[in-house]
Amino acid sequence: MPGPARTPAPDTNTRLSVVVPCFNEESVLSQLYRRLSDIAKEAPSVAMELICVDDGSRDGTLDILRGLQHADPRLRVLALSRNFGQFAATTAGLREATGDVVAIIDADMQDPPEIILDMLARWREGVEVAYGVRTARDGERAVKRWASKAFSRFLNRISTVAVPLDIGEFCLLDRKVVDALLAMPERDRFHRGMIAWAGFRQEAVPFHRPARVAGESKYTTAMMWRLALDGLLSFSLAPLRLAIWTGCAATAVALAALAYGLLSRIFAADPVGLWTLAFAAMLLLGGVQLIAVGVLGEYVGRVYGEVKRRPLYLVKERLGFPDDPGRQPP
Ligand code: UDP
Ligand code: MG
Repeated sequence: MPGPARTPAPDTNTRLSVVVPCFNEESVLSQLYRRLSDIAKEAPSVAMELICVDDGSRDGTLDILRGLQHADPRLRVLALSRNFGQFAATTAGLREATGDVVAIIDADMQDPPEIILDMLARWREGVEVAYGVRTARDGERAVKRWASKAFSRFLNRISTVAVPLDIGEFCLLDRKVVDALLAMPERDRFHRGMIAWAGFRQEAVPFHRPARVAGESKYTTAMMWRLALDGLLSFSLAPLRLAIWTGCAATAVALAALAYGLLSRIFAADPVGLWTLAFAAMLLLGGVQLIAVGVLGEYVGRVYGEVKRRPLYLVKERLGFPDDPGRQPP
């Protein structure tokens, strides 16, 4: 049906916070800032605050942010004391956000900022979580795309909450959902799972994921593994159950082998040796125990991480926040 592409903005003023975690993103920031400013122009009824969290960058990210902030009071800059990781940085930004609605977006524009307007339109219709779903992905290695797709499906199948397929961090959250996220005390902050767990009215907003405009992905293969493990262990008891089922299966096999061995010793003319039998049974049980201990160890390790109760991140600098006494008008 022909018509305007976007819902006309209502008269009421909406306060939107946009949270951007930034780690070594000096090459993309000015472009990101420009595109987000264009959005603000396109939706005059929206009062936007832009919260950039510098996650301990080692390049000129913080200097560029300081410069941008100096010229635009809508910008708030939070600098963490070192690199704490994307999820901690995002949480730091969420904690500072004051909007009625909060968008989380990557700095590299792989999440096209303009989609926030579509998400806002959904929010106005009553949707409390509008999450971006990647219909196509450019500029990423085939193996990363494949691994990410496979992981998404696997997690969706085994986790205790239905985590939507092919999503990343890109989303728009109602204030209620942001408060719910911030009230969750855990340290392994796998946002996709936590948002799915929170419930409320959630809807997908499909988008084509372009390549990074500049710079390189900050995720090494090791970090991707870590993230996948976080997702699996924080939102599923399947690994624990796997150990139990493997244990059951191994026990059954061991019992069958023992029964066979005993019968063969009683009835067969050329029975199997006792040592062979005993050795097989020992190996089997040893293997099962190792798996079970390993899985238990993973969970115990996580409990240890949680009970330490260290802060998730430390802040070294705040710029442009309403309570920031240092800021002078430009
Ligand atoms: N990021 C971060 N801290 C990190 C790693 C990444 O704040 O330790 C940010 C990064 O600057 C970007 C977002 O998280 O805004 C997503 O990172 P990236 O684009 O490297 O991930 P990919 O798109 O390759 O999955
Ligand atoms: Mg990216």
